[in-house]
Amino acid sequence: MYNLLPEVKFISEEGGTSHEFSRIVLDYGEMKGDSGRSSFEELIRCKFWDLPSIDCSFGKAETGALNIRLQEGFEGFAIPGKIDTGKLKRSGYTVDLRNGHGTLGYTTKESISCAISTLKQLFTRSGDGFSVGDVLIVDYPSVDIRSISTTFAWYAGYGRIGFDSQLWNFEDWKEFLNICSNFKINQLNMCMYGYWPFELPGYPETCLKNIPMKVWNRESGNYIDIMYTHPNLSGEFLSELIEYAHLLSIRIFAYIGLNSYNGGFSNIHREKRMKLPPGSRYVNDFDSLCLSDRDNIEYLKRATRRIVQLGLDGIVFEESEEAYWFCNCDSCRKEYGEKTVSPAEAKHEANYRLLNILHAEIKEENPDCEVGLRAWREPPLEKTDEFLKHYCESIPKDVCLYWAPGLYVPESEFTKWVNSFGPERICARDTESNAWSATQGRLVRIFKSNVLRSGTETNDQFIEKDIEQHKGSVAHGVRGINGYLFEWYGYFLHLLAHAHYGWGSEMDEETFYDKAVRRLLGDREAENILYVLRNILTIHESQINLFPAEFPFLRNNVSSVDIASIREAKKKWPLIDGKLDRIISYCESQEDYAVYARHFKKIRNAHHRNRHIYNLCLAAVRYDEEQTEEGKIAILREIEEHNEKDFDLVKSMFFDIIPVDRTGVKSCMYPYHELKRVLDNKLGRNSPPDEEMIYLGVEALGWLWI
Ligand SMILES: [Zn+2]
Repeated sequence: MYNLLPEVKFISEEGGTSHEFSRIVLDYGEMKGDSGRSSFEELIRCKFWDLPSIDCSFGKAETGALNIRLQEGFEGFAIPGKIDTGKLKRSGYTVDLRNGHGTLGYTTKESISCAISTLKQLFTRSGDGFSVGDVLIVDYPSVDIRSISTTFAWYAGYGRIGFDSQLWNFEDWKEFLNICSNFKINQLNMCMYGYWPFELPGYPETCLKNIPMKVWNRESGNYIDIMYTHPNLSGEFLSELIEYAHLLSIRIFAYIGLNSYNGGFSNIHREKRMKLPPGSRYVNDFDSLCLSDRDNIEYLKRATRRIVQLGLDGIVFEESEEAYWFCNCDSCRKEYGEKTVSPAEAKHEANYRLLNILHAEIKEENPDCEVGLRAWREPPLEKTDEFLKHYCESIPKDVCLYWAPGLYVPESEFTKWVNSFGPERICARDTESNAWSATQGRLVRIFKSNVLRSGTETNDQFIEKDIEQHKGSVAHGVRGINGYLFEWYGYFLHLLAHAHYGWGSEMDEETFYDKAVRRLLGDREAENILYVLRNILTIHESQINLFPAEFPFLRNNVSSVDIASIREAKKKWPLIDGKLDRIISYCESQEDYAVYARHFKKIRNAHHRNRHIYNLCLAAVRYDEEQTEEGKIAILREIEEHNEKDFDLVKSMFFDIIPVDRTGVKSCMYPYHELKRVLDNKLGRNSPPDEEMIYLGVEALGWLWI
């Protein structure tokens, strides 16, 4: 039985099999003109990127080759029952193979791309070549847009400088697009938050170019100063990347703030920021600009127009995470604050006006550039019909939603949104578990089982919840799904879940995890891989009581009730470590899987850090219970030793490890620095004590007041 991912709508395995082949000949007759022909050929050659030993050519059938005829439409084809003929005809495909000859039925270029993704999964290695069984497949997506949101520049210059995929060059992105295309993803929303990863004429200070930072130099064991420039600014490749994505029928959107972290403008021009109310306890005044300031509107218009000019297929705007306040300048207060019932509503009203301005700007530059919106996420999470009606009336009619509810609310809340906006305008839900993974300072967070007492955590952002929401999207017949993939290495399961359930599978999740790992990495190490992914216990260093800065993404503090779980994790540690070594060697030694070895090297780094974090936590619990001053000091030194060892491993793998303070507020995703500050103060090394808190990423700031 074939293990196809995403699961296809209909398959009939006929029992026979082809001869051994190492050559494929595709014949598409006289259906397309020359321009269509060359673009088809280019697409098909790209699709075989991971099977370099297969020779692919075009023309008439040849003896010894796998001969495939491409046929436009499904005329004369006996469509099996239970098939949605409308969806099949719109974007589906068929694969019909007998004795090494076959037909691929298609409707669009994208459907050919999907058909070949399936075809490749049917191949089995046989001798020096391949063979393929006799099979009939009829398939189509349940949902038109299967997008993922990746990082091209995530909080760049605010919370961090470089991070996972935002450090990639063109070749790295091309490889990733190929993997996405294998699993029928057809849209990427590239997050560009903070300093722009492209040139913006007139505002060079807002770009991620020549940013001073410190990096660790392992050879001399010290930090050195460098000037960092984003890969797309040191050698522009975004236009080429968009072109390549289009070849694979993948659309590229920019995912940016709607007056939230737009470029480095608010860092450089501090007087342009929104004005905090007097005596405010909020530390984040750098997220948004005052929208009563004409210069600010002009800047946001210019930046948005520039993004359209880069050739992106659409822009998704995200409203600020900061929900509870809006600019307190005289003008904003009169215009928005005094006319609305709450600061959150004031923010929405200001943003509607901005969205309408930017929407006009986008459409003037390119009427085909789509506009999406992610907004209204603050409590109360269950909205009244009246509010939804007002939201709907306040934004342009062709703006699609890239957020709809899914967490902490019953499914009926999603139904309300679908009914209010129409299923054709819903392109995403709250499937953000991987974005939460990306806040964990490069530790592993996939399943609930990775987290200490996950059942009592205040949030539920795990892969299980993403899957549940995707199933709901399919059931409601919406236009699109979106899955977050802010961190890629270590998190291939998220991509596969978004692809599989976005396509329309109703498979139970346990079966899916097993099949997904086998699909991507073969059968031999599948059990070990799943064991590792499920059994790693991650405790964020901020979870000890000694740690003062709040981390809203994990709120349980380690105490004596956790000692048994931590001891159990310590016991399992060598077993997991052995499995990881074995998995890495396996990937590296196999041509088909070598590209995935990096995932496990990163997981191993996290696992090695865990060993020190477990000891750090056990010591911290003892510290909480210790009565004597002398005893406390001894334990603090012990905690310090574990903290340093943990950070040594961070230094050995990652590039961006020092707090960023260009906003005026210190922030770093690694708790090491904040813990070090606390330890140095307690051990009397700072005189006077250093009271400047280092926050755990600016993305945490919007949550601190909830
Ligand atoms: Zn203002």
